[in-house]
Amino acid sequence: MEILIFGHPALRERAKPVENINGKLKETIDKMAETMYKAKGIGLAANQVGILKRFFIMDVSQREGKNKLEVYINPEIVSAEGEMLYEEGCLSIPGYFAPVKRYAKIYVKAYDINETLIEKELEGISAIVFQHEYDHLDGILFIDRLSHIKRQLFKKWWRKHYKK
Ligand SMILES: [Zn+2]
Repeated sequence: MEILIFGHPALRERAKPVENINGKLKETIDKMAETMYKAKGIGLAANQVGILKRFFIMDVSQREGKNKLEVYINPEIVSAEGEMLYEEGCLSIPGYFAPVKRYAKIYVKAYDINETLIEKELEGISAIVFQHEYDHLDGILFIDRLSHIKRQLFKKWWRKHYKK
């Protein structure tokens, strides 16, 4: 599985709801997990591998050397509070990092791979990654959330590093 890089149109599309949680989706998620771990990422949204469906995976436990994959299908952010600044990166924008302001705590709903409804509160890094991946499903990238000046700097940086 290949991770799409900034500039690919699939990263700018709004993904559609998943209608069936079936074996094919499970297979896709397994492949996505393999791809994410190989790239040493902590989150990967369907758009990033060219699938325009509303689901993503994340694993914020990797750093402790223990894998705990989380799968969110048709996710929703029900409510949010607080504010937090965190240095983000993205597998689709390799090498670029910048602090982004996000909600500190979110209450979310989604289905897991067994079609069980998950309802939970996330905070800290889990809340950050969830919001980052959720944005991907709407075609939004973390650089869109930077100030105008920082976005200009990013564009310069990108041209310099990814000039073909
Ligand atoms: Zn990303």
